[in-house]
Amino acid sequence: MRILVVEDDPVLRQQLHDAIAAAGHTVDTAADGVEGHYLGDVEAVDAVVLDLGLPQMDGLTVLRRWREAGRQMPVLILTARAAWHEKVAGMDAGADDYLAKPFHMEELLARLRALLRRLGAHSSAQWQCGPIWLDTAQAKVLINGAPLALTSHEFKLLSLLMQRKEHVFSRTELSEHLYPYDSDRDSNTIEVFVARLRKKLPEGCITTVRGLGYKLVDPAVSA
Ligand code: CA
Repeated sequence: MRILVVEDDPVLRQQLHDAIAAAGHTVDTAADGVEGHYLGDVEAVDAVVLDLGLPQMDGLTVLRRWREAGRQMPVLILTARAAWHEKVAGMDAGADDYLAKPFHMEELLARLRALLRRLGAHSSAQWQCGPIWLDTAQAKVLINGAPLALTSHEFKLLSLLMQRKEHVFSRTELSEHLYPYDSDRDSNTIEVFVARLRKKLPEGCITTVRGLGYKLVDPAVSA
């Protein structure tokens, strides 16, 4: 998944970046409200961690503008401790969850997993598609119970496909969700990653939909 972190404190921003990246996501960061708003507006982000106290444009305004423009990605807001009115205002502005500072990174990651799960209608942190099990909490993959070694790119690709089983992803859509802003996006490299991942998975799990893209299926069901 692709996660946007909008936080002006450089230390916390880096900690959030590192922890979310270690959980197997692509992370974009912004240090102020204007840049954060822009990235959430134009980029294919799957979820946002949004600090409310931001320079240039405050977090509540950022959130309201996204929602007014129809941007529906889940947003977790970071609020000052004991500022209950901030939580209320944030939820009213369209936040999906909140966390008061200071917080434990483990809790933030758990809340993020819960938000991402809702996107794909998964009921737990373990996602299944036929023989494939993906543990989003541990960032691990099992095939018929046996651990599968994946590179971080392959893991991101598989998570994206598993998050929406049976959804046909175009190469452009995959590269938008896998590469951060300002990276050199080449949709041809997606083909290479899909081919590598396909070789590691049981036959028939990734199918090519001619002219449209790729989708993940349960081979036993689609056969
Ligand atoms: Ca702040």
